Amino acid sequence: MKPVLSTGGLSRESRNEAVYSARTILDLAGIALELRVSDEPGIALTINNNVLADARTLMDVFSISTLRRESDTGRFRSDGRFDERGITWDTLSAPVTAEARRIRTMIETIDPGYVWPESMESKHMRVIFTHDIDRVDFRDIFSLIKIPLQYICPRRTWLPWKRAMNPNMLFSVFKQVLELEFTYAIRSWCFFMGSGKGFGLRQARYNPEDRSVRRWLNSAGSMGTTIGLHGSYLAAETSRYGIEKKRLERVLSKNVSTHRNHYLRLNYTDYWHQLAHAGFRLDSTVGYADRIGFRAGIASLYRPFDPISGGQSAISVLPLVYMDRSYHLDDPDRIIAEIDAVFECVAQAKGQVAVLTHPESFALDDRWFDLYAAIIRTALDKGACVDGTLPSMRENEWIIH
Ligand SMILES: [Zn+2]
Repeated sequence: MKPVLSTGGLSRESRNEAVYSARTILDLAGIALELRVSDEPGIALTINNNVLADARTLMDVFSISTLRRESDTGRFRSDGRFDERGITWDTLSAPVTAEARRIRTMIETIDPGYVWPESMESKHMRVIFTHDIDRVDFRDIFSLIKIPLQYICPRRTWLPWKRAMNPNMLFSVFKQVLELEFTYAIRSWCFFMGSGKGFGLRQARYNPEDRSVRRWLNSAGSMGTTIGLHGSYLAAETSRYGIEKKRLERVLSKNVSTHRNHYLRLNYTDYWHQLAHAGFRLDSTVGYADRIGFRAGIASLYRPFDPISGGQSAISVLPLVYMDRSYHLDDPDRIIAEIDAVFECVAQAKGQVAVLTHPESFALDDRWFDLYAAIIRTALDKGACVDGTLPSMRENEWIIH
């Protein structure tokens, strides 16, 4: 049994796109077989002369998985990030994963004797609970502005003065979050900034070399947390991923191979190339800031398209399906219902996804402890593994601990 992709008549660029789509859905279906690319006319992915995916399907897979469907809307915010109000598709479903599952079912019919790689058979759904550490206390200029502002504008809730100025407050909240996770046997991941401290709105509020950060890293480390780099807002423009990674590694005295960008910022052109060049192996930035669900239409680890090489990137993406927003506390039942729908997709695909909360959310409103526990229970009810590990994507590849 050998999958064949015919690409006759396609330009080099379109051919690369078709190859990427075919390889991606085969990978997601758990089919590790080599893909033969032929110049025969009639664009399709076939196996033993059965069409697994036609030209339209391959194009759709490309558009969704590479986020072209969002860039094609032409809707962007003033800071260049995608404007999520331009979304016209259902974010709670994962259409690329659905295609891969359809193909898997077809293969089971075409060749009932096909031996699936063991890793695909034994693995189960995994949810990685993650935290972005944007600040280690509230004693900064923006917090100082927000404290009086909340009394003028009641919708802008912030902390009372005394609580905000307590240098230990946020750390003790962070420890409470880790303790809550411990009761569910969760090993979470924490993304720490690696840039120097800055004073702009989107710049880092701390430097990982600061003494005040040491206890955060120690606490996270003692709980078995995986520590990744929270790449700075301008890391892409200033080509600083490698520098930030090294700074965090120096503090930790160990290798840092996972990444998520501050503000979930990513560009469509050279982001994956930059991360691979800096030596990262996994990124978990692909997710919506304001929506729950699958930004790339995929419910498991996948390889993104690198426009520079014209093929799959060496980076693995762990899709981010949820980020905490303060208004979620106003309607927790709706939030849990949406998360339940998303986790159901992941469970059916035996996929892997990430959930993101910020310690500062818990400090600002302790109702987050209840909502977070409800999110955790929703994952556990689906049978999710939450120990912070991921399976290898292909044989002989790394496993994240
Ligand atoms: Zn951040």
